[in-house]
Amino acid sequence: MTTFRRGFKSWCETTALQFRTALGLKAPDPLPAERLAAHIGLRVVDIGLIPGLRAEALQQLTVADPTSWSAVMLTLGDSKVVVVNPSHSDGRQSNDLMHECAHVVLNHAPSKALRAATGALMLSAYDKRQEAEADWLAAALLLPRAALLRIVQSGVSSEEAACQYRTSQVLLRMRLNQTGVNLQMRRRVA
Ligand SMILES: [Zn+2]
Repeated sequence: MTTFRRGFKSWCETTALQFRTALGLKAPDPLPAERLAAHIGLRVVDIGLIPGLRAEALQQLTVADPTSWSAVMLTLGDSKVVVVNPSHSDGRQSNDLMHECAHVVLNHAPSKALRAATGALMLSAYDKRQEAEADWLAAALLLPRAALLRIVQSGVSSEEAACQYRTSQVLLRMRLNQTGVNLQMRRRVA
């Protein structure tokens, strides 16, 4: 279990709220990962459109082993682009894109970059701490406290809520527990 720097978790909540405000959304509203990506200048591209990603690599990533990768961040010239695995469910793709957005928001410098065969393409790789931070921020961006409270108060099923917020039920349950919203609601009912 990673210990985050002091104040990191509340900073994530504030950041989730600030982006919603910037995009004209209310605190408990779903924040589509694509909208955030566009807002922070992260281009999302179709895997077939990446120059320099060889046909064999594409085949390996998407067909031969379609579940082994979720999303990759690439540096193409001066711009960062992200490719999300199109073979995954909508909720998973949204989680994965939000995770890549989180790396950008956190200004993470890749701990290493893998250069593809042509040399024009760099695949970003991050260290464990950076991955844990991106996971936490992505989860807070998708499901900030205000959203969790709305979900619990409205009484929608976790399946429906996961669908509305384009995330997984696993992440929803995790956030309800980690933020204490579950407990808070149970106390209110009791
Ligand atoms: Zn990552």
